[in-house]
Amino acid sequence: MAYEKLELLIDGEWTQGTSGKSEKVINPATEEVLGELPHASAADLDRALDAAQRGFEVWKSKSPASRQDVMEKAARLMEDRLDTIAENLTRENGKPLAESKIEMGFVIAVTRWYGEEGKRAYGRLIPPRIPGARQMVLKEPVGPVNAFVAWNFPGTNVIRKVAGSLAAGCSIIIKASEETPATCIAIARCFQDAGLPPGVLNVVFGVPDEVSRHLLASPIPKKLSFTGSVPVGKHLQKLAADTLKRCTMELGGHAPVLVFDDADVNKTLDAIFPHKFRNAGQVCISPTRFYVQEKIYNEFVDGFTERAQNLNVGNGLEDGTQMGPLIAARRLDVMDEFMSDARDKGANIVTGGERIGNQGSFYAPTVLKDVPDEAKIMVDEPFGPVAPMTTFKNFDDVVERANSLPFGLAAYAFTSDGERARKLGDAVEAGMVGVNHVGISMPETPFGGILDSGYGSEGGIEGLEAYLRTRFVTELEV
Ligand code: NAD
Repeated sequence: MAYEKLELLIDGEWTQGTSGKSEKVINPATEEVLGELPHASAADLDRALDAAQRGFEVWKSKSPASRQDVMEKAARLMEDRLDTIAENLTRENGKPLAESKIEMGFVIAVTRWYGEEGKRAYGRLIPPRIPGARQMVLKEPVGPVNAFVAWNFPGTNVIRKVAGSLAAGCSIIIKASEETPATCIAIARCFQDAGLPPGVLNVVFGVPDEVSRHLLASPIPKKLSFTGSVPVGKHLQKLAADTLKRCTMELGGHAPVLVFDDADVNKTLDAIFPHKFRNAGQVCISPTRFYVQEKIYNEFVDGFTERAQNLNVGNGLEDGTQMGPLIAARRLDVMDEFMSDARDKGANIVTGGERIGNQGSFYAPTVLKDVPDEAKIMVDEPFGPVAPMTTFKNFDDVVERANSLPFGLAAYAFTSDGERARKLGDAVEAGMVGVNHVGISMPETPFGGILDSGYGSEGGIEGLEAYLRTRFVTELEV
């Protein structure tokens, strides 16, 4: 099967752009070159900005029902093309094919959910103090949107921005990751083939810093939505400040897992283990700091280790693969740094802790035991297949340690005590808390962080609100 044709989408036309520059897209499992990705020139970006402005005027004047119609048609096309898109997603990102199919299923569900929700961008009437006045709150699309997203969910990260924008009546220019462009392009083709008017959805690629500086300097985009690391998010927010763009920031995390000694160890492992190694741990809500109460610590570490040792690591396109490679060789070096630091600080590498083979960026599923809180891996986001574990004594001790980092994206806790479960939901500072299960990301629920993990939600009614602006109009009959 051929890899996706790599192109830019500007003003409804697929193009190689005018920069003459490009970069190679590499399969992280085989190191094979998948394709040559064209970069947009400054003139291409200006065309995209103009197109987004014109596209916005067209799209916002459509009824929400007709916008939903296009989105539903796009969702059906994605269903028809799911196998092909998922295979290319695995080629460029590395995750097992089964995970890519699940991701595309989620992309379709999000498209449908937002399409439907766009019909409910309700304003309201406020009873007046001035007799005879009518006080109306209006919800309107915010304007053209500019989005940049990371490579770890080449479909999900893209659709959360695209479907949110389109449902609200906004146009969008999106720059997906240059490492995983095909999935974004394939999704955009579905929208174009479904009848989306020209300029409503534009897809560009290039040198990230150059593209974002150019687009964010323009007054045309009225909103910035970013999914990526904390430092890049802070940098982009500064760039957006000059033109006072509204921002949604979906940034990094370092999710604590609190396992109390009244939890069923096997059931907890069944829930948390696959969640840890999904996409080789390169997930912003991946569980990354395991605090296990003393009485069950050894049993938990042993059970987790046994599962890690039995995980089938390989090319995501091969049957039976349960974990693929990291996105690129640069991430292997990062994992090695975490390992040597943890070792120096007294942690015990129970399994893994090294690269697998010499081809592809494969890293062994890794379990670290007795990791001190000051180890780099307990402080910096690991974004890899590593599970660092330590013990805790009591509720107050573990909550304090869970809340000790500047991050606040996801957190998990396992306990059979109902009262404690409720207290945990309040006490742990994270945008999303899963108690006794890990299902914290659904189309209809708000997804997003607090503190340094960012702000603004994607999904749920909050996800639509992010693309709407509020105006107040009052009329008095005379
Ligand atoms: P990164 O911030 O370096 O890059 C993320 C994306 O932004 C990439 O596509 C990159 O090309 C682009 N980018 C980088 N610099 C840019 C710039 N100056 N202008 C415009 N775009 C730029 O992050 P990464 O390490 O590649 O990705 C992983 C990070 O993303 C992790 O911190 C992870 O937690 C975070 N993430 C967060 C969420 C969320 O929803 N909160 C979801 C997925 C990933």
